[in-house]
Amino acid sequence: MEPVVQFDNVNKSYGGYVAVENLNLSIEAGKFVTLLGPSGCGKSTSLRMLGGFERPTSGRILLNGKDVTRVPPNKRNVNIVFQDYALFPHMTVAKNIAFGLELKGFDNQKIHRRVSELLELVQLEEYARRLPSELSGGQRQRVALMRALAPDPDVLLLDEPLSALDAKLRQQMQIELKSIQEKTGKTFMFVTHDQEEALTMSDTIVVMNKGRIEQMGDPDTLYGRPGSVFVANFIGETNLLRSTVLGMDGDMTTLSWNGITITASQGGLAPKLGEHLYVVLRPEAIHCSVAEPASGNRIKGKIRQRVFKGNHTSLMVDVGDGTLLNTLVHPSEIAHLSGENIWVGWKPETATVIPDRHAHN
Ligand code: ADP
Repeated sequence: MEPVVQFDNVNKSYGGYVAVENLNLSIEAGKFVTLLGPSGCGKSTSLRMLGGFERPTSGRILLNGKDVTRVPPNKRNVNIVFQDYALFPHMTVAKNIAFGLELKGFDNQKIHRRVSELLELVQLEEYARRLPSELSGGQRQRVALMRALAPDPDVLLLDEPLSALDAKLRQQMQIELKSIQEKTGKTFMFVTHDQEEALTMSDTIVVMNKGRIEQMGDPDTLYGRPGSVFVANFIGETNLLRSTVLGMDGDMTTLSWNGITITASQGGLAPKLGEHLYVVLRPEAIHCSVAEPASGNRIKGKIRQRVFKGNHTSLMVDVGDGTLLNTLVHPSEIAHLSGENIWVGWKPETATVIPDRHAHN
């Protein structure tokens, strides 16, 4: 199937500054795709180029196979929702949603039907005649979304639309946004610097760093098999164990780390003997115990810090020479770990190796 969106070798410079470099990206219809990365990595610029608000310095952008690189925004079948989802304050909810449809010259009956359908989708039928000022923040956000979806765009572009909301509402809206995307089957292209938001909603996450794609994949893969230190650090919490390769066995690697020998999954890398690598070890993959584990990777440590986080406790464990491991302990287990001296252990296959470099540096 032809992708809905294609960035074909797209570059964007402002003066001499390269904001987006060699962007190649295909997006399938009906997917929730998120551009994720720190502030200034080129996410919004990429989105704005797709919307037609910025023109690439070089390269092409295709919508449904058609080159739209030089097509103005109002002639592209895309719509954008910004953080400050400004609704028209003097228009009712229904009028706000109808706005784009009237511009397109739809007849009244069709407009009425479409507005009702969209209000029903977000359970706001009762609010059709209200003004935006008579709605809650979450409701206003839903109306803004429906206004953008009303003309049935090929792609809905969302530029950090949830970042102005408080934490609780933001979480609710993440779930709602994903559900709206699934119900409508629309292609969503979402921009955020918030990794949790990206993990919650996306089919595909495109991690950007300094104007380039660092890694893309589904949330599971990016979390479980980050391809670089940048991605491992950016997505979730992690321990990075700087290790030296001692040997290979099937798809596992034996490494020397912190005075002991450990085993980790190769994660698609072809390690070389003697090479320095990082082992990515997620806090929740670590098991803390009083007794020495019978198998797997294990090392003695001293608890240096306990941070209660409600549904778990975060333990910082010194495993020698001030090397700290961040571990996550469930409430049922924390009572057994009252002393300072413990063992930390993890299964070899829960850790994976990545190159000892920061990509693009
Ligand atoms: P992000 O959305 O990832 O935070 P942006 O795409 O907004 O990043 O910006 C990428 C880089 O391009 C930033 O360093 C930003 O300062 C620069 N930039 C964006 N827009 C302009 C502009 N209109 N003029 C000059 N530089 C810009």
